[in-house]
Formats: sequence, C-alpha cells, structure tokens
Amino acid sequence: MLTDVAPWTPTDAYVGGDWVEADEGRRFAVTNKATGEVIGEVPSMTAVETRRAIEAAEAALPAWRARTAAQRAEILQRWAALMLKQRDELARLLTLEQGKPLAESQAEIAYAASFLQWFAEEGRRIYGDIIPPHQPDKRIMVFKQGIGVACGITPWNFPSAMVTRKAAPALAAGCTFVLKPAEYTPLSALAVAALGEQAGVPGGVFNVVTCDKAGAAEIGAEMTSNPVVRKVAFTGSTATGKILMKQCAEHMKRISLELGGNAPFIVFDDADFAAALEGALICKFRNSGQTCISANRIFVQRGIHARFAAALAERAADLTVGSGLESGVQQGPLISPDAVAKVERHIADAQARGARLLTGGRRHTLGGTFFEPTVLDGIDQEMELSSAETFGPVAALRPFDNEDEVIRLANDTPYGLAAYVYTENNSRVWRLSEALESGIVGMNTGLISTEVAPFGGMKHSGFGREGSKYGIEDWVEVKYVCVGIRPAEGEA
Ligand code: NAP
Repeated sequence: MLTDVAPWTPTDAYVGGDWVEADEGRRFAVTNKATGEVIGEVPSMTAVETRRAIEAAEAALPAWRARTAAQRAEILQRWAALMLKQRDELARLLTLEQGKPLAESQAEIAYAASFLQWFAEEGRRIYGDIIPPHQPDKRIMVFKQGIGVACGITPWNFPSAMVTRKAAPALAAGCTFVLKPAEYTPLSALAVAALGEQAGVPGGVFNVVTCDKAGAAEIGAEMTSNPVVRKVAFTGSTATGKILMKQCAEHMKRISLELGGNAPFIVFDDADFAAALEGALICKFRNSGQTCISANRIFVQRGIHARFAAALAERAADLTVGSGLESGVQQGPLISPDAVAKVERHIADAQARGARLLTGGRRHTLGGTFFEPTVLDGIDQEMELSSAETFGPVAALRPFDNEDEVIRLANDTPYGLAAYVYTENNSRVWRLSEALESGIVGMNTGLISTEVAPFGGMKHSGFGREGSKYGIEDWVEVKYVCVGIRPAEGEA
C-alpha cells in the first residue's frame, strides 16, 4: 500500500539487488507528519535479514572493489543525475514523511546528490605515497584500500542526505554497504536505493534493511558484531552513539559518529545586525530547529542584546507554520509527539528558572505536532535547554559582556559540533575560530553544510568527518608495503 507519494517509490526493503519483505511478513506504518495519515508500510526486519544483507554485501564486494574508480564514479554520477531529475518527487516524499517545508526538502535532495557527485570524483584521488626508505635495500610504498563491508545507521532529520553522505564515500572507495534508516523516514532511503538500482549499482553493493523502533537495537547489534562488517557509520543521538561505540569496541570494529550538538550562536556588538538576525533565524528555525547544528544557545553582546531579542521575536512570530507541502510555509510540524513534549519541557523549565517568553511557547493551533516558533530571553547555564539539545523551534537568548566570558560560556557544554559567530572584527574572527571547541565554525553565516567541507564534531558530538577530501579517509585502510631489493645479478 502506498498513497500520495511518487508511484515508483518502493515499500519493500532492498537486499542483494532484490526488493524483499521481512521473513515474518511484518510491516510498520510510515505517516505523513503533517496529518498523521499513513502513507505506506515497509518491512519490519530483524537481525536475520540484516545478516543476509551483510552476506549479500560480502558477496558483492570482490567484483565492486575490482572495478576501477572511474567505473564506480560513472555509476555514482548517474545516480546523482537521477536524483536531480526526480528532485521534485523525492522532495515531496521527504516532506510527507519528515515534515520539513518543500523548499528545504528540495535543498536536501540537491545536497544528497552532491555527495554522490563529490565522492565519485574523490574516489579517483585516493592516492598513496612512496616514502624515502630507512635502508638502502628497501623501498616503502603506501596505498589505501576500501575497508570492505560497511554499515550505516541514519536519523530522520535529513533522511536523504545522511544516506548519501555515508554511502557515497563508501562505494567510491570500493566498499559495499548495508543501511538502516530511521523508523520515521524509511521511504526516502528506499527511494534513493531505487534510483541507485536504476543507475546501475550492482545487486548487493548497496542494501537497505528497514525496521521499527523496537527492532533498531537488534539490527545495530548485528551490524556491530558481525565479523564480516569492518566499519559502522552512525548519525544520531549521543546516547545511541555511545551504545554502538561500546559494541564496536567489543568486536574491534571501526566506527565514525556524527552525534548531537548544542551549538552556541554568538553575536558581537560590532556585527552586521541584519545579517546576524537573518543568520539566527535560518540557523534556528530551519527544519523546525531539528538539526544537529541548530543554534541551541544564542549569546548577544549587551550593547545590542535587547534590540536583537526583540527583532528576533518579531521575525519568529512572522514565520508561517503549516504543512510543508503548502506554498509559503516556513516551518513544518515536529517529527513526533515526544519531540513536542521535549520542547514543552525545556520551555517550562526555562520559564520556571526565570527566562522570559518573548513569543510563541505553545502548541500551534493547527494541532498535531505543530509548535509555535518560540523566543526565550534570559536563559542561564543551569536550564535544561542550555545543557541538552532542544531539537525544536526554540531560540534561547542571553546577554554577555566580553569575549573571554562568551568563549567560556560557549565551550561550557559536553558537545562540540557547530558554533556561529557574527563580528566585523577580523582579529576576533581568528581568535574565536581557534578558541571555540567545535568541529565547525560559521563566521558571519548561519548556513555551513556543503559537500566540499568536512562535517563532524569533537567531544560528545563524536568523531570522523563526512564530506570533503577528509570524508573518504574513514572508508579506507592504509597499507604499507616494504619491498626489499637485491642488487642487479653479477654485481656486488
Ligand atoms: P537516534 O534515536 O539516536 O536514532 C538515530 C538512528 O539510530 C535511527 O535510525 C534509530 O532507529 C537508530 N537507533 C536507535 N537506537 C539504536 C540502537 N540501540 N542500535 C542501533 N540503532 C539505533 O537519534 P534521532 O533522534 O533519530 O536523531 C536525532 C539526533 O541525531 C540528534 O541528536 C541530532 O543532533 C543527531 N544528528 C547528528 C548529525 C551530525 O552530523 N552530527 C546529523 C543529524 C542528526 P529508529 O529510528 O528506529 O529509532
């Protein structure tokens, strides 16, 4: 059953080049996040089907890694082109199952395709080294090989881009891949797989196993313990990342972790006020605040703080909330009732501890999981929203007086994914770039994601980098070959 989505969208899982049901035939429902209506049902799989997918990836590995990088690139480029050709349909599907406004879904599909394009090219530049030897009769050669069979587990907030950000470098490097997408958004991943099949990705090279929340831990355990799997790549919460890392440690498996964030957004008195306002608005309310790089704590220097808070509240109150499919909508629903409950808890806790509500703060009159764009002022480090990711449309502000103070406040979090700074002072740009404990810094910009730059965090936001020339490194083994050479025959 599939209603209201592109007719070619598959609702079976994809294993070994076949579209398959779960062994027991169980399925779970995928809903339209704006209405709650069921739009399709996909297989609810277990460790057994996951093992089969891993075996399929293992069987496909020798032929895939034997191809030249250029041959693999040709397929990845075709895959990207098909995604861009079907961009409207993919975006519509993404909006239906995830909720974000159509324009954001369109942007995500282009972003997702960009990883296929980038890594198609990058796969051809996995260079090695010749190292000057340590002895006269030795030669030292270093080369890089695809790591082998790899697994990926992805979240619901970027259900298309997080798939290609992992699968593209994996496949480009000659690895084969098994994916488990999030329960809320499996259709986008299956649609990406369908286009991969059309593009000529051989059976078993890219596999998708789907499951509901109850099955996630079992599939994760299989991926992290199966001896065939050489690497697991995860994007999601820090709590789940820690579980997977422990499991990988048990089996000495490589893992890369793109985890939660708690981004500081810092505006100095000398900033371009209008640009900082625009940056805060987009950085905070894009995807209803459900991004790992969303501004979680907004620090504004005291000289402009009151004016900035009032302006942000005015702009937030003006955002159009509604179904992402409707034109002009700027903020869609949240992903689930639990997400709404968390946002309400953070707001209530902040207000109880003295924060002032400037706008929003309640469930939206549209009902469901719609929530009003919210601005709170006067937050402090003790409030729950300062220490935990809100993952919702809540802008939380506080004033600061000087640079040292704001650097200390910004770094006072276990997380370290993204940070933002608005200033026109060039020396400060350099000082802050170096002082902030985060993997990514947006200087005078609230939009930082691109396939050409390394995305990833430090501290509890994880490790490993996705995108850019660095993004291929997690998918290769470095091998060193020491060659002993003898003198030419007849010579001493
Ligand atoms: P999550 O609960 O950790 O889920 C992420 C994925 O892990 C889903 O596919 C989920 O399956 C699966 N999962 C859950 N428990 C598992 C287990 N024990 N073993 C194996 N897999 C398991 O996170 P989320 O709430 O979906 O995603 C939001 C989080 O992702 C936020 O913290 C956000 O900051 C982070 N994020 C980080 C980045 C980054 O690049 N750093 C990017 C995007 C999002 P189910 O869906 O079936 O539960």
